[in-house]
Amino acid sequence: MRRYAYHSMTAGQIQKRLLQWFDRHARVLPWRSAAARRDPYRIWVSEIMLQQTQVATVIPYYRRWLRLFPNVHALAAAKPAAVLKAWEGLGYYSRAHNLHAAAREVVRCHAGRLPADRDALLALPGIGRYTAGAILSIAFGQPEPLVDGNVARVLARLFAIRENVKSSHGQKRLWKLAGELVPAKRPGAFNESLMELGATVCTPQNPHCGACPLRVRCVARRHGEHECLPNVGRRPKSRLVRQRALLIWRNGQVLTRRRPAGGLLGGLWEFPDGDCRGVRCRVGPRIATVRHGVMQRRLDIEVFDCRWLGGEPAREERRVAWRWATSRNLQQLAFIGAHRKIIKLLSQQSRYRAAAHLDTQKPL
Ligand code: SF4
Repeated sequence: MRRYAYHSMTAGQIQKRLLQWFDRHARVLPWRSAAARRDPYRIWVSEIMLQQTQVATVIPYYRRWLRLFPNVHALAAAKPAAVLKAWEGLGYYSRAHNLHAAAREVVRCHAGRLPADRDALLALPGIGRYTAGAILSIAFGQPEPLVDGNVARVLARLFAIRENVKSSHGQKRLWKLAGELVPAKRPGAFNESLMELGATVCTPQNPHCGACPLRVRCVARRHGEHECLPNVGRRPKSRLVRQRALLIWRNGQVLTRRRPAGGLLGGLWEFPDGDCRGVRCRVGPRIATVRHGVMQRRLDIEVFDCRWLGGEPAREERRVAWRWATSRNLQQLAFIGAHRKIIKLLSQQSRYRAAAHLDTQKPL
């Protein structure tokens, strides 16, 4: 059995301690039920949703998703708009597009069953090395490793890896270590235990080393470096971006447009920012400023109340879909996150409530 530098702890001891700890302390989560763990589709959905997203945020989305699309066939048969609506607010929408496209491919090429093979999984849209490792180890019991942000942090501290964990060399080292550690027995539970430790004990700030099952052998802790690791290089500064949104009202309906498919946030709805040829309107007062953080950008969106004076979106504008939306439509359509905040704001204002009673004209 391999014994690690600086350690008197073998891979077997690390596995044993972590699994014992996990059996006692794992959080109860919907994708950890016995039924979910046997279903590769549910593991796949949860892993995709959990990327870049907090567990507490994911839980209601995951439950609703499985009510709407309980299996690969249901997801493959769904309309793109329904998939986007179910994902609305979760962010990183390419994940939803890829899940949908991959489900269609699984039905077409694999008779609706996720393949238990790494290369076949990696060939599906949106499934990378991490997700393939999670599906293979958790749902199929294969000793495949995985490395996400939590695992990288735990391993970097446990083994005092000082190089940038995002560099290709750092990644190579982490994947190699993870591959050496994952056991043949209970590989899925072991991978989950590493992630769970990173999420609940070996946290980015103030890790709870006193509660850690690996504390005795943690090199970073012994050297007092646990607060400084992992090394993630220089974080890019977030950038302030000013935008505006026009609420152009016509008989209680407001003008909206769907972003072109394939582009950033493709298929989601938004309010125009003024670039709306063919429509004449009087720009009224600014009614709010909405702030929204997305990736490395901080958006400041000034919202203007406008009156429609005439016209319809010009022909060349028709490459995107336009719609005079009723208050009901605003709830039904999938909007970009920042503009969903505007709708929430509107729903608290009398103008919107009044609009709900003025929906007299048919949408475009
Ligand atoms: S001892 Fe502390 S720093 Fe080391 S792995 Fe455990 S929680 Fe992380």
